Amino acid sequence: MFTELSLHERLLKALAELSFQEPTPVQAAAIPHAIAGEDLYIIAQTGSGKTAAYVLPILQRLLDDDSKPLAPRALILSPTRELAQQIHQDIQALARFTFLKSELVIGGEDFKVQAAKLRKNPDIVVATPGRCLEQLAAGGLDASEVRTLVIDEADRMLDMGFSEDVLTIAQACPEQRQTMLFSATTGNAGIRRIVEQVLREPRWLELDSVKSDTPAIRQQVIPVDDNNHRERITKWLLLNECPGKAIVFTNTRVMADRLNGVLRAVEGLRVYVLHGEKDQKERKLAIERFKQGGNGVLVATDVAARGLDISELDLVINFDMPRSGDDYLHRVGRTGRAGAEGVAISLVAPHEWSLMSSIERYLRRQFERRVIKELAGSFRGPKNVKSSGKPVGAKKKKDDKKKPKRPKTPKPAARRKPAVPKGQVVLGSDDGFAPPKRRG
Ligand code: AMP
Repeated sequence: MFTELSLHERLLKALAELSFQEPTPVQAAAIPHAIAGEDLYIIAQTGSGKTAAYVLPILQRLLDDDSKPLAPRALILSPTRELAQQIHQDIQALARFTFLKSELVIGGEDFKVQAAKLRKNPDIVVATPGRCLEQLAAGGLDASEVRTLVIDEADRMLDMGFSEDVLTIAQACPEQRQTMLFSATTGNAGIRRIVEQVLREPRWLELDSVKSDTPAIRQQVIPVDDNNHRERITKWLLLNECPGKAIVFTNTRVMADRLNGVLRAVEGLRVYVLHGEKDQKERKLAIERFKQGGNGVLVATDVAARGLDISELDLVINFDMPRSGDDYLHRVGRTGRAGAEGVAISLVAPHEWSLMSSIERYLRRQFERRVIKELAGSFRGPKNVKSSGKPVGAKKKKDDKKKPKRPKTPKPAARRKPAVPKGQVVLGSDDGFAPPKRRG
């Protein structure tokens, strides 16, 4: 019961309005320590109730704090704008019976308007790292009074190359502060570095790592010949096996746009697209419309879809195979929520078969193989597979041994290199598409 968690009656009233009756496991585990001001390192995924697990203690501590500094007392960092907006909305809902105010500091919105809102002295700021640094540098945001710093979805933050930004922002906050770090995956070297540098003797709570997987999701693999075949199968699945909502994930923005065009031409489908090149307004609109209707298809890249609380999905289609086991889990974890069985279908071309088997090994499960009779292609999976599940011949041949792995093509200098966590499976783009981009 929330009443056992020493929360202010105004917060209990908001919880009752939201019909949150019981704390979720992450809330029950984290809230008492967070209220006590401890540093926390929490492994929990989107959908676990992690936002309220740090927002409630922040609000409680602010209600207990009589000082009235002229700068925000809590700073929450989110990897994406959409997640930041969602956190901001959650704060507003939980703080509705208090005078506490939250403000957003995210890219894609007018810098000066944002600075003006910051001058109104919000208690909590929810920010994406890039814009947060810009507002700090311009003096729009003052972090000198921050008592609680939250780094949400830290694993994704690092994947997106924000590691240095996060460290710089943490340094701008007072040393005597509470820090809570949330990650959906267990520690890789990048996260350990942040934990060591930003948290002080943190309590480690592992509740719901994505690796724990979701047996309620039927996970299937359909072999495909090429992109044309992928498109035909995607259309068929959406028309024949999805009466409700579906997300189709692509690895690149170009493919998301292309597929959006292809699907829009299909009668009976309501299609929206979400990727990093869409501006803030377009993204907001796409999400709202997709959420509203009873059915619909959202074509999205991983980064653009990150942090969105889109539930009640009937189907997730991996139009391209995701580049890592964790990306796979983030994608398929969107279906089958709240006890309902969901379906996740990956379309796998010959060159992606090894990657798919690596993901199976990473998750320690085998996906169901499936062929759609009407659309059977010539590729049905490799004829011979090794015990690892990889196709025979997937590794380089003997006489290739001395050749360099891959010709080096000059790339434009990247400002920050995306961290590739150890333990994640194969990354790469031997499909001829653009290499992974940081802000999808
Ligand atoms: P989150 O993991 O923070 O993205 O939360 C996932 C969803 O669960 C959101 O829609 C929340 O509003 C909802 N939620 C969070 N805590 C509770 C709770 N204790 N009871 C019911 N729903 C909750």
